[in-house]
Amino acid sequence: MTDLIPLGGKRVLVTGAGRGIGRGLALTLAASGAHVLACYRGGGEHIDSLAVRLKETPGDHHLIQADVTDAEDVQRLLEEARTRFGGLDGLVNNAGVISHIPFEELPYEEWSRVLDTNLGAVFRLTQQALPLFGERASVVNIGSRAATVGIPLRGHYTAAKAGLIGLTRSLAKELGGRGVRVNVVAPGVIATEAELPQAVVDKYSGLTAVGRLGRTEEIAHAAAFLLSDLSSYITGETLHVDGGI
Ligand code: NDP
Repeated sequence: MTDLIPLGGKRVLVTGAGRGIGRGLALTLAASGAHVLACYRGGGEHIDSLAVRLKETPGDHHLIQADVTDAEDVQRLLEEARTRFGGLDGLVNNAGVISHIPFEELPYEEWSRVLDTNLGAVFRLTQQALPLFGERASVVNIGSRAATVGIPLRGHYTAAKAGLIGLTRSLAKELGGRGVRVNVVAPGVIATEAELPQAVVDKYSGLTAVGRLGRTEEIAHAAAFLLSDLSSYITGETLHVDGGI
């Protein structure tokens, strides 16, 4: 069994926790000793099974439905953090959306949807979480290896994820004095429940130094490190977790 980064009693909000990397984050952070407030958007069997898994894990964990692009939902989500936990020690901005559209056909509505979910929601959540933070807090923004590389058909997505790096750098400087650290974890290609054609798996595996796609818990361990006091002198950083792609 892999050793876990100790998060003893830290109160952490994770967005987009229903599936994919967010689910791995919620489960790994809970297993690491954090109390997890897991935000999900759409319900279903996967949420029921997440609730069961979290219930089996020691700690005070809660599942809250909220759309991070909806200002009222975000307010309610953070109110839940206040009433259930009395504050927050960590915030993981993971919820994200992507689409693959040639730039010359990209409708402004889609540009806005992708920017608002991947970047606007981070603004909203982080700003409103500030009053809940104690003397020390850590914000982890889930970015993307693609942000500083660029990929055709993902101009809107990479713009949002690159914006996250600038926001992270500025907030690290602005909030460091009050004990808030802000960092990015930038995944490469991570295998999730989402089916990928074998040709795509082979292609991206072959581009990495380690010859395979990443696992959700490998993103979660990096986030756990940045949430933990072991990383107390790290802020404004982008940690690429990409198998050396
Ligand atoms: P998935 O599409 O599997 O999951 C995204 C999650 O975000 C879902 O739980 C989804 O909820 C949630 N979400 C989307 N929009 C909203 C919203 N408006 N309000 C609340 N929740 C929302 O993505 P991944 O797990 O693959 O990606 C997670 C993060 O990692 C994203 O930020 C992504 O950009 C980043 N990333 C992923 C990589 C990968 O290879 N997987 C590579 C690089 C970066 P619902 O289930 O309701 O749709």
